[in-house]
Amino acid sequence: MTGGGADAWLDRPVREIARAVRTGEVLCTTLVEASFARIDALDEEINAVVSLERERALARSAVIDDAVKRGEDPGALAGVPALVKDNLCTDWGTTTCASMMLEGYRSPFSATSVHKLEDAGAVVLGKANMDEFAMGGSGEHSALGVTRNPLDTSRSPGGSSSGSAASVASGMVPLALGSDTGGSVRQPASFCGVVGVKPTYGRVSRYGLVAFASSLDQVGVLARDADSAALGLSAIEGHDPLDMTSAQRGHSGCHEARDVRGLKVGVPRALLDGVDAGVAAGFENASSALVARGVELVDVEMPSVEGAVSAYYVLAPAEASSNLARFDGVRYGRRAAMEAGASVGEMIARSRGEGFGEEVQRRIVIGTFVLSAGYHDAYYTTAQRVRRLVKNDFQRVFESGCAAVLTPTAPSAAFELGSFENDPLALYLQDAFTIPANLAGLPSVSVPCPGGASIGSGLPVGAMLTGHAFDERTVMSLAGAIGT
Ligand code: GLN
Repeated sequence: MTGGGADAWLDRPVREIARAVRTGEVLCTTLVEASFARIDALDEEINAVVSLERERALARSAVIDDAVKRGEDPGALAGVPALVKDNLCTDWGTTTCASMMLEGYRSPFSATSVHKLEDAGAVVLGKANMDEFAMGGSGEHSALGVTRNPLDTSRSPGGSSSGSAASVASGMVPLALGSDTGGSVRQPASFCGVVGVKPTYGRVSRYGLVAFASSLDQVGVLARDADSAALGLSAIEGHDPLDMTSAQRGHSGCHEARDVRGLKVGVPRALLDGVDAGVAAGFENASSALVARGVELVDVEMPSVEGAVSAYYVLAPAEASSNLARFDGVRYGRRAAMEAGASVGEMIARSRGEGFGEEVQRRIVIGTFVLSAGYHDAYYTTAQRVRRLVKNDFQRVFESGCAAVLTPTAPSAAFELGSFENDPLALYLQDAFTIPANLAGLPSVSVPCPGGASIGSGLPVGAMLTGHAFDERTVMSLAGAIGT
């Protein structure tokens, strides 16, 4: 994967790459060409990338190189090649959400997060594969084909930001954007051995992110180390008048790590029962790394978190069924070919049946059911109550003086592709650790546990830190303390 010269720059931390481009040590064009060469060499097998815009990327690279020559500063991400998940709208190329429903769709505008990434000097090469409409946790539910884990191609890269994680892990790009509604940035980061951060709800604009479950969705960042992910997050965060849920807060300051010595971090031990031996071993390594850096670990209780998966799989489908109603073959989406005389209702039903994959249809059916008259209180209202109790659990832990909560990211390392083919519910249970942060709207990061190939099956496992609302700086600093 590594070579001499320009190619080797791609394996450096984002801060170093940007410094080299800013000082003229390496050309952005050279980096972008090296990144395309890696994608060409690796992606036939991995399938992390769904579309590339080579000419656009090379034109942008030339602009950056010219700016450096003129003595201007292209920004903190100068010349860093990146990919963005295909549910982030771009006014170039296509935005398909890896669905037949949006085959060939061209958005008239770009997501704010993508704009900001490029405003900071990054060059977006194209779009990353994903589970269709961000529903899934294995990278197998994509209409554009399965993504494979670059560390072991018989295994899942996790999902739904499967391509974002796999492209970073395989060295195709140093940085990628994903989205996280119930763990879709953090779980693939854990499976692929990279860092993935989901910011506080409202920290990063959702404008131009195709909605799955609007009260849970956040754009997140994947990179090989905590500082690189923090730099990416620092570039895309901030208030956006185009997103009503975007928070008016000052900058998180997450690009500058703070001292973690003396911080208290809570460990909800009761939740760790039943995780794989490799995950338990990795988690112990992560705990020891924090203790070695002067962090105090304390046992905490979070009894309501046990209900989080059930609540999420009511609330997220409920919101999805409403958000996806616009894909009807009329306002948006593919329209089925019909015989003369067919009704509009038949046309919409056929279009949705053809355009949506099985998992998306399952979510729409669940969501419609839990919102239906007579069931609304039993399911939706109850799930909202559980959501409040989960928030209260975090609140209590934070009030006791903890800066963050530490758990594994997922109950297992990357599983074999096909493991959950006939058991969607078992796959849902894999989200037990990641979902609580989405329900509570808190910043949460997955970082590879120290020990690497010596842990369990030899596959990486992630440790996850969830912190106070809008305190991305502390969670990223703690992640850095585990990772260095
Ligand atoms: N695996 C979860 C789901 O399928 C999370 C998805 C996400 O975060 N987008 O709903």
